[in-house]
Amino acid sequence: MAEADTPVLISLRGVCRYYQTGDVVVKALDDVSLTIRQGEFVAVMGQSGSGKSTLMNILGCLDRPTAGEYQVNGHDVNQLSPDQLAALRLKTFGFVFQRYQLLSNLTAVENVALPAVYAHIPKEQRQLRAAELLDKLGVGERMYHTPGELSGGQQQRVSIARAMINGAEVILADEPTGALDSATGVQVLAMLKQLNAEGVTVILITHDAEVAAHAERQIQIHDGRLLSDSAADSFIDRQQPEIQPLQAYKSVSALVSVLTALQSLRNNWFRTLLTLLGIVIGVAAVVAMMAIGEGGKQQVLQRIESMGTNLLLVRPGGANNRNSGDTATLTRDDASALAELSGVSAVAPERNSFATIRFGNRDYSGRTRATTEDYLKVKDWQLSQGTFFTEEDMESLAPLLVVGQTIVDELFVNGENPIGQYVFMSNGVYQIVGVLEAKGATAGGNDLDEEVLVPLSTGMVRIFGREYLSSITVKVENTDDIDSIEAEVTQLLAARHGSEDFTVNNTASLIEAISETQDTLTWLLGSVAAISLFVGGIGVMNIMLVSVSERRREIGLRIATGAKPGDILQQFNIEALVVCCLGGVVGVLLGSAVALVMAQLNIAIAFSLMPPVLAFASALLVGLVFGHAPARKASRLNPIDALAED
Ligand code: ADP
Ligand code: MG
Repeated sequence: MAEADTPVLISLRGVCRYYQTGDVVVKALDDVSLTIRQGEFVAVMGQSGSGKSTLMNILGCLDRPTAGEYQVNGHDVNQLSPDQLAALRLKTFGFVFQRYQLLSNLTAVENVALPAVYAHIPKEQRQLRAAELLDKLGVGERMYHTPGELSGGQQQRVSIARAMINGAEVILADEPTGALDSATGVQVLAMLKQLNAEGVTVILITHDAEVAAHAERQIQIHDGRLLSDSAADSFIDRQQPEIQPLQAYKSVSALVSVLTALQSLRNNWFRTLLTLLGIVIGVAAVVAMMAIGEGGKQQVLQRIESMGTNLLLVRPGGANNRNSGDTATLTRDDASALAELSGVSAVAPERNSFATIRFGNRDYSGRTRATTEDYLKVKDWQLSQGTFFTEEDMESLAPLLVVGQTIVDELFVNGENPIGQYVFMSNGVYQIVGVLEAKGATAGGNDLDEEVLVPLSTGMVRIFGREYLSSITVKVENTDDIDSIEAEVTQLLAARHGSEDFTVNNTASLIEAISETQDTLTWLLGSVAAISLFVGGIGVMNIMLVSVSERRREIGLRIATGAKPGDILQQFNIEALVVCCLGGVVGVLLGSAVALVMAQLNIAIAFSLMPPVLAFASALLVGLVFGHAPARKASRLNPIDALAED
């Protein structure tokens, strides 16, 4: 009950609200002046279309007047920022709607507690407060039910409790009994009366004179104009309230937004799943593609590295003088000269040909390599049995062989000890003196154990009958010096031969070249995958836009109950981020799983930290970028339109 000297709460002067539809201007409110004091119970009456809801929206700061002045507690609403208006909706006003506007997937107590989030009330306190209010309004025992499980009267009590959760000074009730039978309507009115008796200002909007009769003051509007006011003398200018500074509220914390996002994602799990799908596929594609690309690279590199990374390969035949196998330019003296260079740790001259080895009734055909002991140094190879050729063997042209494990396996099927055995090769008899340790096959399937080595001199004289070399492999001590030594080698040989009738290849640069090509391939695969991530992002945007459209009522309600545009923006941004984050995690797992399955199918894969981290970060970025447009749309939603919809 308001006494004559209670301060003015609401004051309208010449307030107009025009709607322009095409060429027609609808004057929904036309020059309305009105003062309402603290603690009044006012009924605003009028026919449908007379401007009641327009008035209420302006009073509740959901809408601004086209012209005229509106003051709340002495604050000129026209001067307030959107965030200050939100603070008014949060603390000063509580809305009660004709159709309750409860969120169907929240329980009664959650619905009531909803606006308290924006007042930074901790969760437990919110729930407690909400439960108390529901108790007070007589629906305490229904608080864990969803609106669908409540009667109309119960739902309206829940919505009154929600209006009160932040301690509203004014309850704005637009046709609160319009959807209720008259008995229930009377109960709801009694509740509003009780709140009024406790000091809450109630502004009740109705087209029903009987309902209006419950109020202590009746105002009638017609065609947007004030027709009558039962407190005709009005209290304009009688007592101005003390003006309290109006502070905007801080945005809700990111954690609260994340929790809200998780809940809303759970409530719409199917849509969440669809949204996730694009991101999951995108991230998984990046991870799997990069693992496969990287695996291919490693495979090729291993093959080269199995040759040794710090080697220079000198072959006969220059740029204008292609190597034809018979090109006779490299000699043993060349090899000896190269061994003199500083920084060179080993020089393996060799001459190759194909030959067949026979032991008993078993044959092995393959490459025979005539070389020196440096071949083992160059290849980093050890013997598993026996000895290598000695200097004396070399000089005496001894018919000796050192063989790889594959040859042992092929020829000595009965488990004979190969050392000391005699075999036939190229119409000569050779004795096996050593066996190379098994190296197995490369990732690319090259058998490294198919080696048949003879002393260089023996090979030259007995097998090839020629003095020239197929190649010289130079091992450098320090890989960093490989370029300078390559230049020295080239210079030395050119000086010895008088022309560049040879080529020098450097495995390090070969590896570099190949890994560059492979990197290009990997990035190509990666970018194909990134495109799918981009497409996933568009999916996120699309589904988020749908989500915003579908949740217009929820957004409108949040804004009407005190959320700032920034809160809504943050919530939807975070929702997109949470989706993309989930999608990122699932995608990384799925991509790794796909790569592992590929590995089972003998496709080379290699994992590194970079692609999953990159893909995950991209997913977050996608969320940030593609979630922005929907979030902005949500934050700019007009709550009046949204709440007017069914
Ligand atoms: P009431 O709540 O008394 O039924 P309203 O305040 O909803 O009336 O509407 C007052 C007038 O303003 C009506 O003629 C209505 O058609 C018009 N109106 C309300 N909202 C809009 C709008 N967004 N655009 C155009 N005209 C509107
Ligand atoms: Mg209306």
